[in-house]
Amino acid sequence: MQAQPHGAPVYLGFAAPYDTDDLYRLSSCFLPLGKVGGKPSWLNPVAIPKSEQLTCKSCSKPLCFLLQVYATAETDSAHSFHRTLFLFVCRDPACSKANDGSNIAAFRCCVPRVNAWYGADGPLDADLVMEDELPAPPTGAPALCRTCGCFASKKCAKCGAAWYCSREHQAFDWKLGHRSSCGQAVERNEEERKNPENIWLFEELGMEMDRETLPASLFEDLSDDEDDEEREGEKEKRRMEEYVKMVKAKKLDEGAAAAMAEEDIEVEEKKDICFERFNRVMQLQPEQILRYQRGGRPLVPSDRAPEIGQVAACSLCGAPRQFELQLTPHLLSLMGVDSIRESIDWAAVYVYTCSANCEIPESGYAPEAVVKHDFVE
Ligand SMILES: [Zn+2]
Ligand SMILES: [Zn+2]
Ligand SMILES: [Zn+2]
Ligand SMILES: [Zn+2]
Repeated sequence: MQAQPHGAPVYLGFAAPYDTDDLYRLSSCFLPLGKVGGKPSWLNPVAIPKSEQLTCKSCSKPLCFLLQVYATAETDSAHSFHRTLFLFVCRDPACSKANDGSNIAAFRCCVPRVNAWYGADGPLDADLVMEDELPAPPTGAPALCRTCGCFASKKCAKCGAAWYCSREHQAFDWKLGHRSSCGQAVERNEEERKNPENIWLFEELGMEMDRETLPASLFEDLSDDEDDEEREGEKEKRRMEEYVKMVKAKKLDEGAAAAMAEEDIEVEEKKDICFERFNRVMQLQPEQILRYQRGGRPLVPSDRAPEIGQVAACSLCGAPRQFELQLTPHLLSLMGVDSIRESIDWAAVYVYTCSANCEIPESGYAPEAVVKHDFVE
């Protein structure tokens, strides 16, 4: 597929709250368009990521499901008739470091039209299937962690019926109530349903998508000529290089130094055009949680944000990765993590995916790349 960075439409994702009794409509069998929080609704319920793939690179604790979005394109090949992206984040604020996306993991799952889980005519209709009629876990599906809904390989030694991804989640569930319900035939069913199901998870919400329209006048007063900006940037860089050279050679007399300093101040006070643009776009649709434009361009939140540069190529096929979506700061408030200090934070999280949208072994999950930008003083 030829990417058309400027022409391709941007789709915005918005959170859509559900009544607790209706949350079952976000189950895998209905192929939800997207959702935030709760447990993942795995597209391929069998070849799901292993626990090692879902641990934080900084603290080694399990990552927490953040959101998923169903995103196909007409040009996708047959192996990718269904396609969903999944994002996970470390819940520990200490792992959220400025301009570092290592606390977030992204996966791409592609499933062909003919598969063991979804009919060729499409998914089940949530209006026709009651919650207690949901299909049983498919053949070959691994047990899922009771706490987080991810791959589970450890079970409660007492009852043998409760499964977990990690000791940590087993201990969590034990304290949360398994201590008293362990071994009892009936669990939870009669309890009042909660959202989130447990405090490890983020609140579960549906997602709706809408095409973005920006008024033509939105950036009228901002320099829109990127070549110009680039040239300005180049000039500034050369000037700084010269300055450093002069200082090193001690050739700089006081007058020249003063002139340079003045120029530096000018640069300092130059309008942050990216920041201005970012804010205007966000203010038009303040509730947007996600911006989607496969093969498009990220909306960078500040001129001071570090260069995204070359993102690592696809680890499966070696094709370059391309921009696919970005998360906005508004999502943080829905996750309940937007306190000023000590919380997960970002100005933008970008997900870059394989530009070849390559076939994944077992129609499973391919890790994709995450880049994060923060507002840094
Ligand atoms: Zn962590
Ligand atoms: Zn778990
Ligand atoms: Zn047990
Ligand atoms: Zn690939």
